[in-house]
Amino acid sequence: MESSISSDTIEYELLRLKEAVKNAKSEITNLRNRVMTQMGPNEAAVFDAHLSFLEDPEYVGQIELQIRTYSMGAESAVFDITQRMKEMLMALSDEYLQARADDLQDVGTRVLRLLAGQRAMDLSSVKSGSVVVAEELTPSNFAELPRDIGGIVTARGSRTAHVVIMAKSIGIPFVVGVGESIQKIKDGDVLVLDGTQGTVLVRPTEDEQRQAQHHIEVHSALHNVALAEAKNPAITKDGRRIAILANIGHLRDVPEAVKNGAEGVGLFRTEFLYLENDHWPTEQEQYEVYRKVLETFTDKPVIIRTLDIGGDKPLGFANLPQEANPFLGHRAIRYCLDNLDIFKTQLRALLRASLHGKLSIMFPMISTQSEILLAKEIINQCQHELHDEGVVLVNPISLGIMVEIPAAAVMADVLAEEVDFFSIGTNDLAQYTLAVDRGNERVAHLYDAAHPAVLRLINQTCDAGIDAGIPVGMCGELAGDLEMTEALVGLGLSELSMSSVNIPMVKQRIREIDGIAAKSFVKKLLKLTSAEKVRKSSFAEVLGTQ
Ligand code: PEP
Ligand code: MG
Repeated sequence: MESSISSDTIEYELLRLKEAVKNAKSEITNLRNRVMTQMGPNEAAVFDAHLSFLEDPEYVGQIELQIRTYSMGAESAVFDITQRMKEMLMALSDEYLQARADDLQDVGTRVLRLLAGQRAMDLSSVKSGSVVVAEELTPSNFAELPRDIGGIVTARGSRTAHVVIMAKSIGIPFVVGVGESIQKIKDGDVLVLDGTQGTVLVRPTEDEQRQAQHHIEVHSALHNVALAEAKNPAITKDGRRIAILANIGHLRDVPEAVKNGAEGVGLFRTEFLYLENDHWPTEQEQYEVYRKVLETFTDKPVIIRTLDIGGDKPLGFANLPQEANPFLGHRAIRYCLDNLDIFKTQLRALLRASLHGKLSIMFPMISTQSEILLAKEIINQCQHELHDEGVVLVNPISLGIMVEIPAAAVMADVLAEEVDFFSIGTNDLAQYTLAVDRGNERVAHLYDAAHPAVLRLINQTCDAGIDAGIPVGMCGELAGDLEMTEALVGLGLSELSMSSVNIPMVKQRIREIDGIAAKSFVKKLLKLTSAEKVRKSSFAEVLGTQ
């Protein structure tokens, strides 16, 4: 979009922008208050994220700069900067950050609409029980929809988009990213949605409708039972307890984790502290966040992962160089070991926070033992420095690694000598084992962490952990995949960490599993030839038809 203006109208365009931003803030604040009353603080938090874009000098400041530098109209500048920042976010491999691109688009569209003097679309009159079918749905659109709609189908979007999380948290089925096939749906069609499988049945027969109705009744009964029991432990029929923890990226994710029965945090992705900032977060800023998370969970474990940044997760303010193969590049622990000031700032904050709870520190993307030894040496240095400054660290801290590079899984017996625990990151482990970019939709059909090759590496890692007497957990997406729970129990994992919403059902599923039977089931799975066959077998097992 291009449009230039004479320099004397620049001030006028800046004023129009200012007015539109002010009105956008007021609309978002109203929506936020409405969602807060209807749904609660977690769901309302997305609008804080929207407001923060409008308060972010990176965003509004860039738009103003665009107007001044290129004598652009406000609309063109908003459009350009929104697209540019959105593309940057979408290029990241992290699904959570990709989903922030949708939030930014939502904010940009709102400002553009206000600049055009248009009123907001009225979605509040959508009829009860209807399925909303849309190219894309924003959190703002969602906030305006009545709470009694039957479901949502969108052509585009990601599973971790805020809007999907919001809908699911109040039990509205959401099938996201169906692509072109959305065209098959006509106004008035009867639809059957399965939010867990991500499928839509268009114009089902009466028989299919009856089956779906039965499935809904069974599922909702199971879910209610699971939620009522969510605070209880997950113990297999033969008495094995599997710890179920939450993956978080922010302090604001903690209440949801507690509500769903998380027995601690299995993965705190600290990169969000950096990615959502415009400067390197200071030791004190980080300490405050880590301390609050640890205090919430007091005697329960909190595993905080050190910075997993670089390559495909560029930090705007850090000016990281472009790389030809960012997934194979200078990222995570590799970056930290080469930037000791940044690494030490985080480690010092973590060590100080350890006084407030049960902290475990986890290093990402470990591929060799020497990286662990170096990281431990740097922790030692930080401990000495703090000691000299009069900080007495009284609580023991366990040190672990993510096993997410095939080399780490293959060498797990050697690495186990140097750490207190393993946590398997199946998102990256699958990507590297199968040589499939986890963010590339053209090869998405080849990406499945249930592939027997990945399962064999998980098996090898679990065996090495058991031999060395250290716990082996999992914090990749596979950990919350209900279809794979039996296999994970059989593989010998002692801890599963997942998105909070998945916790109640996974706990419930574990209580139905016999650990010994799961072990022999895994032996069969490891001999299968494809992820498809693994899933088919696992599904049959869940239904008890094998
Ligand atoms: C993983 O790779 O499985 C993982 C949990 O880390 P992330 O998704 O943050 O890369
Ligand atoms: Mg990873």
